[in-house]
Amino acid sequence: MNSRNGAHAVVLGGSMAGLFAARVLAEHYDQVTIVERDEVVGVRGPRSGAPHTVHAHGLHARGHLAVEEFFPGITKELQDAGIPTGDLGEMRWFFNARRIQPAHTGLLSVTAPRPVLEAHVRARVVDLPNVQVLQRHDVLAPVAAPGGGSVRGVTVRPRAEGADAFTLDADVVVDATGRGSRTPAWLEAMGYKRPEEERVRVGLAYTTRHYRTRPGMFDGVQSINPVATPDHPRGAFFGQVGPDTCILSLTGLLGDHPPTDHEGFLEFTRSLPVPDVYEAMHDAEALDEPVRFTFPASQRRRYERLDRFPSGLLVIGDALCSFNPVYGQGMSVAALQATALRDRLRKGDAEPAGFLSDVARVIDAPWEVSAGGDLDFPGVEGHRTTKIRVGNAYVARLQYAATKDARLTEAFMRVAGLMDPPTALMRPRTVARVLRHAVRRPPAGVARRAAGPKDRSAST
Ligand SMILES: Cc1cc2nc3c(=O)[nH]c(=O)nc-3n(C[C@H](O)[C@H](O)[C@H](O)COP(=O)(O)OP(=O)(O)OC[C@H]3O[C@@H](n4cnc5c(N)ncnc54)[C@H](O)[C@@H]3O)c2cc1C
Repeated sequence: MNSRNGAHAVVLGGSMAGLFAARVLAEHYDQVTIVERDEVVGVRGPRSGAPHTVHAHGLHARGHLAVEEFFPGITKELQDAGIPTGDLGEMRWFFNARRIQPAHTGLLSVTAPRPVLEAHVRARVVDLPNVQVLQRHDVLAPVAAPGGGSVRGVTVRPRAEGADAFTLDADVVVDATGRGSRTPAWLEAMGYKRPEEERVRVGLAYTTRHYRTRPGMFDGVQSINPVATPDHPRGAFFGQVGPDTCILSLTGLLGDHPPTDHEGFLEFTRSLPVPDVYEAMHDAEALDEPVRFTFPASQRRRYERLDRFPSGLLVIGDALCSFNPVYGQGMSVAALQATALRDRLRKGDAEPAGFLSDVARVIDAPWEVSAGGDLDFPGVEGHRTTKIRVGNAYVARLQYAATKDARLTEAFMRVAGLMDPPTALMRPRTVARVLRHAVRRPPAGVARRAAGPKDRSAST
């Protein structure tokens, strides 16, 4: 233990953000308790408290580095368990119906099934001698200390029929209950203001199905990803998640949701701007039925702007900021927030003011990328500042130029992987490379649809 901040820390929610927080708190508190409503210990499959985890999840560059730092050797452990890892720039990425040049970036991306990744992380956390998991317990509310200036614990109730609620005393309570977090309501009930909430409505849905991988299906790449752009708003993440299993998550915006029936799912795949995904999967063996997850809006809660916030309460992960998932940022940002928490605790400071302003800075750049990027879609409502308009027009040029210049793929992936801030794309040498290929915003890429079953039978 580096420094002792207190006897007991309680983490609400045992998903990725809660696990990262527990890992960090375990260095500074005698005992850490994770409270989770689902049964989670040893579980490697989907669960009701985290329905989004069925869908494609990539742990990208910076997040991967943070996770490896928290849990040394975990990358090898995942690889030994058959989890694909690969270079972020060497995947087959399409923007605006055009493939960007593959580039060796040295940035690792882990594409485990999300419940499996979580299970490996959880096993490491549960192994820590001073961490316990109170699973199948509902968090009810934090308990305020007399005077209301701080939180001194939390009330929880076992999920067993007729079980009574009880209070866990704590020096610090960390809310990692995800985007449905009740901290805004708890603050109000304790006499504090609710935080301002920024929302960008995207009306997004993921529909996902798993398939058995066939030899040659991916043609040597880890995944094939036609990403949604304003001219081609339907997207997909089609990737290997194990030795013989792959996942296809289709994405549709603004109510254009990928269907969950077999025919509709196939037809949506065929309507993607490039034929690569449909051609690889249309006659593959499906391992389950398509499942949909809807994501109405990205949301960011600005706790750091509140004048007053109770001591002894912190908020982390999606409870603070839930990003449009197509940018693949959430787990990485949660890991970076846990790193910020560790840095505060090492200074002996567990006060919310410092932590909340540190994590606001962690969130700023990825929020700019995703919330700003969403405003490039004309149907997404929101105020488009000059910075956002100019930035989006430039990124569209850069993505086009990256179809000719692999160095631009690398620059782009370093920002997407949260290794560099978005401003890195404005370095003079990068701007010069972009302008060499794209002085104006490029026109819509021409979709190349795969031949459907009828076209195939007509041509035979
Ligand atoms: C479709 C989709 C795809 C995504 N893809 C990616 C990706 O490719 N890469 C990436 O980095 N991120 C991705 N994300 C984001 C990522 O899933 C989250 O950012 C990440 O899971 C961190 O979430 P969290 O731990 O804060 O919250 P959650 O994962 O939502 O976990 C909250 C936990 O709290 C528990 N809980 C909630 N309320 C209570 C209560 N009252 N009592 C007890 N327990 C409670 C829940 O059971 C759950 O376990 C994606 C998200 C979605 C929706």
